[in-house]
Amino acid sequence: MSKSAFTEEVGQRRTFGIISHPDAGKTTITEKLLLLGNAIQLAGTVKGKKTGRMATSDWMQMEQERGISITTSVMQFPYKGRMVNLLDTPGHEDFSEDTYRTLTAVDSVLMVIDGAKGVEDRTIKLMEVCRLRDTPIFTFINKMDREVRDHIEVMDEIETILKIKCAPVTWPIGMGKAFKGVYNLITDTIHVFTPGQGSVVPDDIQIQGLQSPEAAALLGAELVAELTDEIELVQGASHEFDLDEYRRGELTPVFFGTALANFGVREMLDYFVEWAPAPLPRETDARPVPPTEEKFSGFIFKIQANMDPKHRDRIAFMRICSGTYTKGMKMQHVRIGKDIRIADAVTFLAGDRSHVEEAVSGDIIGLHNHGTIQIGDTFTEGEALRFTGIPHFAPELFKRVRLKDPLKMKQLQKGLQQLSEEGATQLFMPLNNNDLILGAVGVLQFDVVQQRLRDEYKVECIYEPVSVHTARWVYCNDHKMLEDFKRKAAENLAIDGGGHLTYIAPTRVNLSLTQERWPDVQFSATREH
Ligand code: GDP
Repeated sequence: MSKSAFTEEVGQRRTFGIISHPDAGKTTITEKLLLLGNAIQLAGTVKGKKTGRMATSDWMQMEQERGISITTSVMQFPYKGRMVNLLDTPGHEDFSEDTYRTLTAVDSVLMVIDGAKGVEDRTIKLMEVCRLRDTPIFTFINKMDREVRDHIEVMDEIETILKIKCAPVTWPIGMGKAFKGVYNLITDTIHVFTPGQGSVVPDDIQIQGLQSPEAAALLGAELVAELTDEIELVQGASHEFDLDEYRRGELTPVFFGTALANFGVREMLDYFVEWAPAPLPRETDARPVPPTEEKFSGFIFKIQANMDPKHRDRIAFMRICSGTYTKGMKMQHVRIGKDIRIADAVTFLAGDRSHVEEAVSGDIIGLHNHGTIQIGDTFTEGEALRFTGIPHFAPELFKRVRLKDPLKMKQLQKGLQQLSEEGATQLFMPLNNNDLILGAVGVLQFDVVQQRLRDEYKVECIYEPVSVHTARWVYCNDHKMLEDFKRKAAENLAIDGGGHLTYIAPTRVNLSLTQERWPDVQFSATREH
């Protein structure tokens, strides 16, 4: 690829994730986006949650049973000359770490709000994460086909609770059974709603001008007058769209519609591909890396085991930060200082795994992981830099894992190790005994691991309580002191799944006492590579 062709390719990328409270409509809107991108023929195939069509594993079956989405997948589709990369983020709070790291791999976010419910807690938490990096945010207020709350009130809530200015771009005309469409405040155009188009790309019926005879014919003079007043009020109460403010994360363009009936989504997507940022520079421990740099670099933000039972493999998801991936290229695995040849990176086009020949900054590729790749790992064309800001968090819940069949110890260890690579759970192996201690950020994780061990590794495990209150990663520059510490504190030390020394504290008091006793040893609640 020539330099200018490369720069152009990169400029076309739009890499984003969707944040929302469970049930706001994230899955539904994802389906419609893929439908609009022609990536799927029929909506309803994104996840097995409702249709069961893509239940590729028992694990997914569990997702269906629980009605939550656990997986993070990547979907790529072309739209209006742009290449859109959509990174799915799990909505359940027990998977917040996973979501956190996925949000480090996007350049912008789409926030979906249930128009009847307004701002909900999960959205507040996710917004806090976006705030850390001033991620630009698009807002879609969903479910206009229902009797929803007053829209100005909902926007007010977004402004006051989420602390971001709202710039409505479209505005709904009516709601529930009387929903007529949306009005574009910028172009003075009415997009007319036709119900029953959920699974097809709807026709775009437009009327130019709210004061036009066509508008009066469609809506009636009374509704036009009402709407005119309302729009005036809205314009007075909200902000005008400003690209710079949006890109700085200070203002969000707001769109209305109904994902279920596939209306208003296209109007949003059309602006999204225009305004959302192309790949942004990424920070490393050495220097920021611009996306247009031709030398290849990327980092791993997620690892997933056994995505497809037929393939029985583990995929490491890499965000490309600069340069081009080409099939068979050599790249350096910076942490272990080795060159590896990547012959078969994968992408996940609408849930279908296909091989990529080429991918550029902003794209996500999946590498086959045989245990050497960890979350946070950097890959380059030789430069020894490391991307920063992709942490592991110390788990808050701990259980001892016991086998039902003691002969399957190897299998259990392998399973726990591999599942821990995904980052949602962490494995700790005490220095002094043969326990296997599993740490997680949420209770649901323990069930997930138990079920996946059964399904994917054929081992039955049980959990026992263990007196671990919290874990801290241990660092010390003074080698002698560290050895001393290791001897004296051995009973509370463990090695985690990534081979890092960890202090597993039975109580908070114990942790503070130990910290006081060893002021030159660092006890860290997060671990970065
Ligand atoms: P998620 O949990 O955020 O992924 O939400 P889903 O996309 O699964 O949607 C939750 C529920 O809301 C499902 O029953 C959807 O059919 C429904 N839903 C989604 N969008 C709309 C909409 O625009 N209107 C209505 N009436 N229901 C919707």
